Amino acid sequence: MLKSIVVVGGGTSGWMTASYLSAAFGDRISVTVVESARVGTIGVGEATFSTVRHFFEYLGLSEQDWMPACNATYKLAIRFENWREQGHHFYHPFERQRVVDGFNLTDWWLREPRSDRFDKDCFLVGTLCDNLKSPRHLDGSLFEKGLGEQQHAYRTTLSEQTTQFPYAYHFDASLVADYLRDYAVARGVKHVVDDVVDVAQDERGWITHVTTRERGDLAGDLFVDCTGFRSLLMAKTLGEPFESYQSTLPNDSAVALRVPLDMERKGLRPCTTATAQEAGWIWTIPLFDRIGTGYVYASDYSTPEQAEQRLREFVGPASEGLEANHIKMRIGRSRRHWVNNCVAIGLSSGFVEPLESTGIFFIQNAIEQLVKHFPDSNWDEGLRNTYNTLISRCMDGVREFLVMHYYAAKRQDNEYWKDTKKRPLPDGLAERLERWQTRIPDSESIYPYYHGFESYSYVCMLLGLGGVPLKASPALNLMDPSSAEREFTLLADQARDLERSLPTQYEYFAQFH
Ligand code: FAD
Repeated sequence: MLKSIVVVGGGTSGWMTASYLSAAFGDRISVTVVESARVGTIGVGEATFSTVRHFFEYLGLSEQDWMPACNATYKLAIRFENWREQGHHFYHPFERQRVVDGFNLTDWWLREPRSDRFDKDCFLVGTLCDNLKSPRHLDGSLFEKGLGEQQHAYRTTLSEQTTQFPYAYHFDASLVADYLRDYAVARGVKHVVDDVVDVAQDERGWITHVTTRERGDLAGDLFVDCTGFRSLLMAKTLGEPFESYQSTLPNDSAVALRVPLDMERKGLRPCTTATAQEAGWIWTIPLFDRIGTGYVYASDYSTPEQAEQRLREFVGPASEGLEANHIKMRIGRSRRHWVNNCVAIGLSSGFVEPLESTGIFFIQNAIEQLVKHFPDSNWDEGLRNTYNTLISRCMDGVREFLVMHYYAAKRQDNEYWKDTKKRPLPDGLAERLERWQTRIPDSESIYPYYHGFESYSYVCMLLGLGGVPLKASPALNLMDPSSAEREFTLLADQARDLERSLPTQYEYFAQFH
């Protein structure tokens, strides 16, 4: 068996990797994290994907412990503002569709829309978000029973998720890294604060050790590159090629602010907001004590100064005196993610762009797959090959889903938005879009490999973005709609009850602070 792992980098990916490996393997393998005190972390990445709860569950951490320590909040959806036209909004919820007489409720809705809000007519989460509600009652119970909170005698991973859990988290990325560092170090992970200044390879190109500025050499069997966009081991040392997504996803820059606010007064919206802008979009992530916000833009359409000015206007007076974090994004993925005895996880492996919050999901997926494909000293090439295929397919699938966001957004009011309709579409998407116009997306017609998103997400996005028309299945005109009508009424009643009975998200978290 392998005896030692060296993780280079101590951002979200480095500490997620180290803590997960220590939870999976205990002290049967030694794990060392080396992180630089001079090179900072990316400083963003605070909204997650609903599978993330499996990560915390796997580590044995309860929400009551880690969430208050990381100023975390619940995220039930992404609220898309102004993507169709100014003043319009809709939610992409973490909530699967109900099925009536073999057809999705959205299909029935298309046959005869109840209102102009498919997201509230067909899903509960839209109402919870509009009313700033917590998904949990004050006694801790979930708003909807049977949503996968069964107590297992074992730990689940994201690939075992069978129900669509109704929420993900927002959290302070620096506090989460600190929390996971303490968790990992308490379980025997060694922590070295130093700069890696050299990487040594043997004659086959396998890494033998990394050299630090002050603490000498760190040898290991397996090296994990968590150095962010620098990709010190995977790109710089091993020279693995990078496959850019830039031709289909042009946003390559961001400017971010951390804005302290009185969240009790402002209210904690239980979702991330993505507000479309002239050259991209602005995220708003509500934490318990502040918001994280940033403008993701394409440098072909905006200068950094224009983007920062727009972000400050968007935030208003609260942005005064705050330092902006300008970030150049590397959009795409490494051709392979595991080469020889080096695995890249996090931004060093690939990044699509923050829309739909998939950076941390990629990290979680990579760690889980690494554990599943973990080698012994035979270094079976089949394990590496399968791992590389799974990771690449996952990122390519998310790329396709995100390209669809821009292509299907109805707005075309300037060059940036007009150009989103002219770029080449990634393989298969054009054909799928055509197919979805006669039959709404289902599990058979979406990108065929695991990438986190299910068909309901595609339906919600197309219905909300409004630029690609969908129509109801013709068969519904021949069917009796009374069961569907009862379901719409039931859902509206449930939404009204929840609006009355659930606490606000602020009230829920105030009890832990
Ligand atoms: P980093 O945070 O950059 O960490 C790199 C680490 O490597 C640091 O500890 C550094 O000290 C260390 N290091 C570098 N060089 C050396 C060296 N020579 N020696 C020693 N150590 C070294 N993801 C989401 O899931 N949700 C989001 O909402 C989201 N928003 C994002 C917004 C933007 C604008 C961007 C760019 C990304 C976003 N992401 C998001 C992605 C997310 O931020 C990252 O996936 C996550 O933070 C992991 O980063 P990382 O640990 O790979 O890299």
